[in-house]
Amino acid sequence: MLLELKNVFKWVNSGGNRVFLLKDINLQIAQGSFVSVMGPSGSGKSTLLNILGMLDTFDEGEYFFNEQPVHQLKEKFRSRLFKENIGFVFQAYHLIDELTVYENIETPLLYKKVSSSERKALVSDMLDRFNIVGKKDLFPSQLSGGQQQLVGVARALIGKPKLLLADEPTGNLNSKQGEEIMEVFKRLNQEGVTIIQVTHSEKNAEYGSQIIELLDGRIISR
Ligand code: ADP
Ligand code: MG
Repeated sequence: MLLELKNVFKWVNSGGNRVFLLKDINLQIAQGSFVSVMGPSGSGKSTLLNILGMLDTFDEGEYFFNEQPVHQLKEKFRSRLFKENIGFVFQAYHLIDELTVYENIETPLLYKKVSSSERKALVSDMLDRFNIVGKKDLFPSQLSGGQQQLVGVARALIGKPKLLLADEPTGNLNSKQGEEIMEVFKRLNQEGVTIIQVTHSEKNAEYGSQIIELLDGRIISR
């Protein structure tokens, strides 16, 4: 298994009561899977994805990533595990406005020990692969939503992650742009990248091989 959640709960305290965001989540994801997480707004999809992506913590239960107990790791080790294994794509792209396309894609490598010549080669590969070489010196605001999301995906992939997490990656795109992103995901998955995406679209979900449905913080079908 690439990752495993065991009896995971997350809650917030509100007026002396526990409000559960996730309840008793049990999940096993094998290397090479392509999973879609679905469910109504507020059902806990983003919370689940953020926990899997080590961007958020939880209150009870266990999380194993590559056999490592994420719930027991100190911040420093958790952050290393994230950098070495996980890429994250956001609905609203989360690109840095002040940086060019080239610089945005390069960013994750600046936190790793990658030489400047190697960085150049890796970023060039990404620009090629997503057909955005001509856009490399532009800023995010000069791109269409679809192009910005391609940059977001390129940035997520630059560190060659085992796991790609995407929270409604096509939520702000038109259907043609959305399809382009799904085709990119499909190809990546064929190349061995494990993908977990949150989506509202049945059509997008069908690109994956498994659907996990959440309701009120619980998995109700899989
Ligand atoms: P989804 O992505 O499925 O729309 P979320 O995971 O964002 O759902 O949120 C699940 C529920 O938890 C929602 O009702 C949301 O308002 C609530 N929630 C999320 N984060 C917090 C937080 N930090 N404090 C309190 N409530 C939260
Ligand atoms: Mg959400």
